[in-house]
Amino acid sequence: MQRTYVSETPQKIGEKVLLQGWVNVRRDHGKLIFFDLRDMTGILQLVVNPKVAAQAHKNAQAVRSEYVLAVEGTIKKRNEKQINNELPTGKIELEVSKLTVLNKSETLPFEIDNTKDVNEEKRLKYRYLDLRSERMKKNLKLRHKVIHFIRNYLTDLGFTEVQTPILTKSTPEGARDYLVPSRIYPGKFFALPQSPQQYKQLLMVAGLEKYFQIAPCFRDEDARADRSPGEFYQLDLEVSFVEQNDILELIEKLFTALVQTLTPEKKITQTPWPRISHREAKTKYDSDKPDLRKNKQDPNELAFCWVLDFPLFTEQSEEDFFYGSGESKWAPSHHMFTAPHPDDISLLVSDPGKARGLQHDLVLNGVEIGGGSIRIHDPKIQEKIFELIGFTPEQKKQFSHMLEAFTYGVPPHGGIAPGIDRLIRILASEERIAEVIAFPLAGSVSDPMMGSPSEVTEKQLKELHLKVEVPKKKKKIN
Ligand code: ASP
Repeated sequence: MQRTYVSETPQKIGEKVLLQGWVNVRRDHGKLIFFDLRDMTGILQLVVNPKVAAQAHKNAQAVRSEYVLAVEGTIKKRNEKQINNELPTGKIELEVSKLTVLNKSETLPFEIDNTKDVNEEKRLKYRYLDLRSERMKKNLKLRHKVIHFIRNYLTDLGFTEVQTPILTKSTPEGARDYLVPSRIYPGKFFALPQSPQQYKQLLMVAGLEKYFQIAPCFRDEDARADRSPGEFYQLDLEVSFVEQNDILELIEKLFTALVQTLTPEKKITQTPWPRISHREAKTKYDSDKPDLRKNKQDPNELAFCWVLDFPLFTEQSEEDFFYGSGESKWAPSHHMFTAPHPDDISLLVSDPGKARGLQHDLVLNGVEIGGGSIRIHDPKIQEKIFELIGFTPEQKKQFSHMLEAFTYGVPPHGGIAPGIDRLIRILASEERIAEVIAFPLAGSVSDPMMGSPSEVTEKQLKELHLKVEVPKKKKKIN
């Protein structure tokens, strides 16, 4: 018999069906045994009546929560008194005629219907159980739909999705790199991309014109409230022959259509999205990510805005210096490929701190959802920026491929990279970003389920020409 999904059962009253899934809850009512059976599409009540199916009833007695079952029976209407209008299957039940246990289950370490209060390490250690909850499945499905929508929308506009390398070279986004030792080149390392920034610009040199990627990005940072530690996903996007306004309009249209289609209960506070200068944001809202919601208690309000006209440089912090910047007073506000405002080019010489950049930040409900910019496409200006941020000749050499590429006919181009996890967290009305990621690292930047990071064998280290020196634990003083 072909399998029926729970979601199809309301259309099958009076029919004989086969269902497969997990036991959500089991209740005994005297002679009758009731189960809720859960599959990926929903939950359905099963009734096992010894008078109807003696053997099934016998089998059912051993069944516990989370057992995996195959059940055959007839879909029937429930008695008036038993109707549950909260459930799509609340008016029906399956009268079981045959019940087979496909697999047993131990008692779970926590109840899956209420995992919000379970501690994080435990939830992540048993993430495959945590993901059985309706809430987590809903979040993963929303995530899938958002990515599917974006792919279709951009494909229809002539964009090409391109996968860029994961084993690459340090990309300067201001964070610490994850490094991968090379076996073949002793003492040399790949870096995991902090973003595909250089590749997407090189794809513009290649003439692709409209690129996007649902791109994994890796940054070795401590856990932050607005970013899952270790890795996260961006809608990475780049377009040639555009002005800043084209990028802003593209993203505004895309996200507006996405919200209307996938989360129509959400209402966008203001359209077109307000565009605020960095200075205005700072003076009026005391923040470069202003929260423009009218009612901050309303989980269905979405207040998007653009923040523009950022200063091209900020005063360099110790971190900027350590993670890839040059030795100078200035560090790029966004990154070193951001174009200066055309009216401010002369300021690069006279007063660099006053120069504005063609950067655009997208803010949603007070959270920075993504940033981007129109890029420098003049190698001379690019060199000037390298100089202003204090690059040594050695550091400049690291980007010589970009400067060289730009000598072969680079189109004017620009892009943006909205964070997928951040956006979905807000669309799913979740407080924590980990709730919309299938297998996130814990706040401790480790994976309690896989047990990573983990030690490797001597042989592996040797092949990689590595020696490990683990800091000694402090000796106890008696
Ligand atoms: N690469 C930038 C980032 O990851 C985004 C961009 O400029 O497009 O923030």
